[in-house]
Amino acid sequence: MPDLPYHASPNFKASTLSSEHISHYDLTQSTTQHAPPPTLLSPAFTPPGTPGIHTPTVNRPPRSIPVDTSNLLANQRPKLLEELPEVKCVVRARIPTTSGSEMFLHMYQNNADNKEHLAIVFGSDIRSRSLDATVPGETELDRMIRGAYVGRLYPGRTSSKVDGEPMHDSQSHTPPLVRIHSECYTGETAWSARCDCGEQLDEAARLMSQAHGGVIVYLRQEGRGIGLGEKLKAYNLQDLGKDTVEANLMLRHPADARSYGLATAILLDLGFGGQEGIRLLTNNPDKIVAVEGPNREIVVRERVAMIPISWRTGGKQGIQSDEIEGYLRTKV
Ligand SMILES: [Zn+2]
Repeated sequence: MPDLPYHASPNFKASTLSSEHISHYDLTQSTTQHAPPPTLLSPAFTPPGTPGIHTPTVNRPPRSIPVDTSNLLANQRPKLLEELPEVKCVVRARIPTTSGSEMFLHMYQNNADNKEHLAIVFGSDIRSRSLDATVPGETELDRMIRGAYVGRLYPGRTSSKVDGEPMHDSQSHTPPLVRIHSECYTGETAWSARCDCGEQLDEAARLMSQAHGGVIVYLRQEGRGIGLGEKLKAYNLQDLGKDTVEANLMLRHPADARSYGLATAILLDLGFGGQEGIRLLTNNPDKIVAVEGPNREIVVRERVAMIPISWRTGGKQGIQSDEIEGYLRTKV
């Protein structure tokens, strides 16, 4: 048994190192050619790149489902007000956004309530009929101040109409993407993780700032139409174990008090009335008929679903809270 170091395996062949002269191991005297040792890496192995730098972002258009409500029976349609409210866009302004895209914020007045509903418009070729209408006696400066101009404003501009760049018709025959969003102070402004309204608003804006543009009709109907105070009461009932719908019913509110006539009227004002129709971004098929209006003034051609980011990414991104899972199960 040769003398082995105490840590050697019994299978370890004893080295005869001590019998060789040290110069045999001198690397500079390459008298014998050894093949290089095989690489431990597979030739198929590609070293990973830094995430976000080398991985190209694929901007896929959102998937949509064809929709046709033309042969729905009368009793399958929700009860809508016979007449659409009158709406008027009183001012519009360009807003560059923190994501780098820009949109035109349109503020509306109407004859049904005293709230300032909004249209968030991505793309400069979507125009409001009521905003562009001539107002007797107004100057070109008046028109530019209320946003009734073509193209972009710049210092010294004197006409609302002429701007060098001609008005171009949209080349695309894809119906515009539309989202009807109801105001949610808690989810959009106060970082609430009880609902995903903030995330959905961001996602709608992201989809519309790509390629074809679109419109988010932003209705000031907080808490599914019941108002902020009542919504906060409903939250307390939820903490007592009720879900969103049960809580609203206990407070004697309908499960969903929202109405969409204003949205229909705003979409008509933005020129979406024809047979070309719209693509509606929603998870709620009931919204389709509601948005189309009492006489199908708007035609929804396709529905684009919104998948919560937390579901799409297996919980790695998006809203995380105990409350959100129950909320999404009730809602989606
Ligand atoms: Zn919300």
